Amino acid sequence: MTFATLGLIEPLQRALETLGYQTPTPVQAQAIPAVLAGRDLMAAAQTGTGKTAGFAVPLLQLLAMEGPKVTANSVRALILCPTRELAEQVHASVAEYAQNLPLSTYAVYGGVSINPQMMKLRKGVDILVATPGRLIDLFRQNALKLNQLQTLVLDEADRMLDLGFSEELANIYRMLPKKRQTLLFSATFSDDIRLLAGQMLNDPLSIEVSPRNVAANTVKQWVVPVDKKRKPELFVHLMRKGKWKQVLVFAKTRNGVDALVDKLQGLGINADGIHGDKPQATRQRALDRFKASDVQILVATDVAARGLDIEDLPLVVNFDLPIVAEDYIHRIGRTGRAGNTGEAISLVCADEVNMLSAIEMLTRQTLTRHMEQDFEPEHRVPDTDASGQVVKKPKKPKKPKASGGGKRNLGKWVESGEVAVAEPSIKPVRKVPVFNTGPRKKK
Ligand code: AMP
Repeated sequence: MTFATLGLIEPLQRALETLGYQTPTPVQAQAIPAVLAGRDLMAAAQTGTGKTAGFAVPLLQLLAMEGPKVTANSVRALILCPTRELAEQVHASVAEYAQNLPLSTYAVYGGVSINPQMMKLRKGVDILVATPGRLIDLFRQNALKLNQLQTLVLDEADRMLDLGFSEELANIYRMLPKKRQTLLFSATFSDDIRLLAGQMLNDPLSIEVSPRNVAANTVKQWVVPVDKKRKPELFVHLMRKGKWKQVLVFAKTRNGVDALVDKLQGLGINADGIHGDKPQATRQRALDRFKASDVQILVATDVAARGLDIEDLPLVVNFDLPIVAEDYIHRIGRTGRAGNTGEAISLVCADEVNMLSAIEMLTRQTLTRHMEQDFEPEHRVPDTDASGQVVKKPKKPKKPKASGGGKRNLGKWVESGEVAVAEPSIKPVRKVPVFNTGPRKKK
């Protein structure tokens, strides 16, 4: 199959050729004809499968072939993204695909001054990529009209809900013309997303190019059990041992990102961090430098790193496991993209056992564990498997102290987050509920 057989016009074929795209990926093979036929779409695709071109390329063709010229302050197609970085990245891809077409493209997002964006919108833009909050601001300030809108794309829609954008999406929905094409793309589909799709899409075609919630099989994944306080030391040890050159590291919190970056920089390691508290320009600069291999280790929170496409990234390290199991798939999807192989290593402490279990259940696999010599944890990480059950084996009870008088050890197992645990050692096996992977609050 070629892009020509999918019905793409010559200027688009030429642009894809310039970018080295020879054959359509599975999601492109299904999405491109459907979008060209004017269908609404609900597409589940693994990260790194080429979904951006899957929606952007046919969209450009429709805009080039049909519809009136864009008028002042209007847009003809709107692509909504959850984060600023993703908006920038999607816009960069759209602009590349549009290089031979007379169409205008632009990206707007918060964290930067709104005035230049208002100026730019004056003439109208064919394709606007936007984060929800800034889009609403621009609309409320009359800098943007949506009555000419032909197509709406929701990219990483599940993430938008995870980040607490459901109210913004409802507001935007009310601002849109009723007659339009809507394309909903997401790596994973929760029940909330299916509900949203029910409201926003009209007789959608469902595309699912890989089994639901399965991580890319080009990524070799493994887990290193370790005590929480020894994670930084283990990270540095593994980095030196493996001679890591370019690593994207995920930490749970902004403070966690800063602390790890400080520690690494203190050791003379070339590291930088991105998270939601940093100004947009600083985040973008860190990312650009990482992409250009000027920074060796980039530490990020999930919010800052969602959807980033870094060419040939060999390794992702989960310094902390994500709170939401679906994020694991997004994180490791930063490597092993576009047919390359990659590796994802998770440093897991006993506190995180329920998150590990939820990830294994979601991805339907038991992650291989590798015990690193001299880093064996004092707090054992209980066994887990893809059934979502955590098997806690009791420690051997210590002998009572000869001096007597002290409390008897009851076989205390692990302090593991929500389901902690002083269980008497007479119960050999305990099953605990799986970690809740439901929506969370905006960070
Ligand atoms: P995406 O999933 O849209 O973020 O795309 C992941 C990576 O695959 C990006 O670097 C794209 O440039 C690349 N890509 C997308 N489609 C193709 C294709 N048909 N052939 C080769 N590379 C592609």
